[in-house]
Amino acid sequence: MSKEIGPAFDIERGIIDLGGRRVVLHCNHYNVFLQRTIEDGLKARAPRLLAAAGMETARNLLGGLEVKAPSASPRESLERAVRIFAEHGFGAIDISRMNDQGGTATIARSHYAIGWRSRWGIRQTPGCYFPAGYLAGAVAIASNLAPERVVATETACYAAGAEQCTFVVEVW
Ligand SMILES: [Zn+2]
Repeated sequence: MSKEIGPAFDIERGIIDLGGRRVVLHCNHYNVFLQRTIEDGLKARAPRLLAAAGMETARNLLGGLEVKAPSASPRESLERAVRIFAEHGFGAIDISRMNDQGGTATIARSHYAIGWRSRWGIRQTPGCYFPAGYLAGAVAIASNLAPERVVATETACYAAGAEQCTFVVEVW
């Protein structure tokens, strides 16, 4: 089991550091307004950008933690990724049908999906791009894969009327 590293708070400078990376916390209102602004502006190009943000967040944050406190196994790395995601209020990811080579994951109460639906109602397409990118990044870090080899697609989303959010993660 890896040595666990928690966030370090610098109260005087108002900085949170985790794994050598700065952490900024935003509420659901901020996040879904930002997402909608990006989707309205970039249209069909938005999902790729939003997922890339999730991927890069996972790779930077989890990659930094793997350097400071290496996981004992790919599974342990994935479990740390899930724990950190939940600790930051994004939702509890169920990875029981996933391994370090992908699979299916679900989020019963996704921060983005609940935020979107409570603000604007049901959307036409799945909207959890950041969580999808984060999941792909978590698999890339756990399996030491180049980011372009991992793709996560949300196949059902609470924001689009599903009971929960479902993601298929594939390694190419
Ligand atoms: Zn969703």
